[in-house]
Amino acid sequence: MQTRLILSDEEWRKRLTPEQYHVLREHGTERPGTGCFLGTQEPGTYVCAGCGNPLFRSGTKFESGTGWPSFTEPISPDAIVRVRDTSYGMIRTEVRCARCDGHLGHVFPDGPPPTGERFCMNSVALKHLPEGVAPTLLQ
Ligand SMILES: [Zn+2]
Repeated sequence: MQTRLILSDEEWRKRLTPEQYHVLREHGTERPGTGCFLGTQEPGTYVCAGCGNPLFRSGTKFESGTGWPSFTEPISPDAIVRVRDTSYGMIRTEVRCARCDGHLGHVFPDGPPPTGERFCMNSVALKHLPEGVAPTLLQ
């Protein structure tokens, strides 16, 4: 199991852009259709924008038509944590980074095979590392 990255609110504000802070630390959602990873297909790994934790492989990314980058499964089951979210009068499953507890998006049970899951992510919560670039965990 990986070590957790725990920073104060002030440290997160210094480290993240206002957009990243809003999504990762305040559970915000970027406007649909605006994210930098919409429609991208470059091979590689998507890591947490807050802490560098590897989260998704490019091969599991698919076009969901929702306006947010979507994946069928995380890079490993323990890369993320699932949290029940009852905000806005809906019952959803929130997805957080297992290392820094940053909010990434939600997972829905209407995805394509093989998992049938749709990880609906905020682009701003992710960073893309090209194939062959090793992830570096931020301390
Ligand atoms: Zn993280």
